[in-house]
Amino acid sequence: MNVKVFKFGGASVKDAPAIENLCSILRRYSDEPLVVVISAMGKTTNFLERVLTAYYENPSEVPALVEELRQQHEGVLRQLLPDPASVLISLENLFQQLRARLSMSPSQNYDYDYDQIVSFGELLSTTLISGYLNQVGIANTWLDARRVVRTDATFREGRIDWDVTTQQVRAAMLPTLQEGGVVLTQGFIGGTAENLATTLGREGSDFSAAIIAHALDAESVTIWKDVPGLLNADPKRFSDAVKLDRIPYEEALELTFYGASIIHPKTLKPLQNKHIPLYVKSFAHPESEGSVITNCRLSTDVPSYIVKDNQVLLTLFPKDFSFMGVDNLSNIFAMLAQYRIKINMMQNSALSFSICTDNVGNRLKKCIAELRKFYKVKYNDPVQLITIRHHTPEAAEKAVGTKKVLMRQTSRATIQFVVI
Ligand code: ASP
Ligand code: MG
Repeated sequence: MNVKVFKFGGASVKDAPAIENLCSILRRYSDEPLVVVISAMGKTTNFLERVLTAYYENPSEVPALVEELRQQHEGVLRQLLPDPASVLISLENLFQQLRARLSMSPSQNYDYDYDQIVSFGELLSTTLISGYLNQVGIANTWLDARRVVRTDATFREGRIDWDVTTQQVRAAMLPTLQEGGVVLTQGFIGGTAENLATTLGREGSDFSAAIIAHALDAESVTIWKDVPGLLNADPKRFSDAVKLDRIPYEEALELTFYGASIIHPKTLKPLQNKHIPLYVKSFAHPESEGSVITNCRLSTDVPSYIVKDNQVLLTLFPKDFSFMGVDNLSNIFAMLAQYRIKINMMQNSALSFSICTDNVGNRLKKCIAELRKFYKVKYNDPVQLITIRHHTPEAAEKAVGTKKVLMRQTSRATIQFVVI
């Protein structure tokens, strides 16, 4: 059986016209077994994060925020369907659960509360869209991803139990898929063995699609996006960005590792392991080719540019007379690991060690305080990290321009600059 897995992100379901467009894309694949993975509508996840903040800090604001969310979903539904009554009942049911949840006091485990509340974004969007599609002739089975995507209890970053998930996904989906049907489910969310909701990290719906494809040995995954495919640079920064047609998994992994934000970094490994190609296609132009990540050779050697803002450059100097050798380095790495500080670039000399990292606020501050017990710490903030894959002197010149370079590093395929 050749199952396709489609993933539609928030932008592709942000309002009624977007959802109608999703519907017209699904009609193009009407006789194929299909799994459709959907994110929360538009900026709903951000909105639910606000609800959560209010829940902790300003509980009196919660009811009005929930009502705003309800009206927004109801508004979209009414635009889509002349007779929305039955779908409205399903949505109202979810809102009742959400209100009940929010009427309890916070558990004081913020990450746990986050997942129980923020997971409603995807439950709402899929309930709305599933109901709409059923009424306009795209029969589909709505599936609660919390029941099939099994994670541990690492809230906000649930770790997948692959064996249980595979079993549950197959048991829940194969009956529908074997009849050529459509299964519709949520991205981003999963559940523990105790039936608690978990989430997989922001932008995690891509990863959900990969998990499901892996479990089903799917033929392919397609991520429908508001761009024509995978580009060699962010078009908002580089007006001459070009589409990459065919990208090997390894190259795509490198690009996401360095911060290309187009695909969630955890998405690719499960697909690569099973040789499942990942298509990135434009939801505005579903007929056009898009890009594919697969087992192949890179189709061009055009440079790819990844720019990360809001970086911090730390330079550490031992306070004693020691060199920056393995003892110091292992001490530093242990502290970085303890505070989950990610290294985006690093370099050492006899007497110093520098790293470029994301500014993760408080966690970084605490880590620096700890480091200062042993090292003199200098830092530059904010800086920008520019990474170029398949670099050329012209590409470096174009990306760096007149900016001041604080640190640079070159390997055969990659060049990186920390600049201000
Ligand atoms: N709705 C979630 C988020 O905005 C997951 C996703 O869109 O992939 O992060
Ligand atoms: Mg999204």
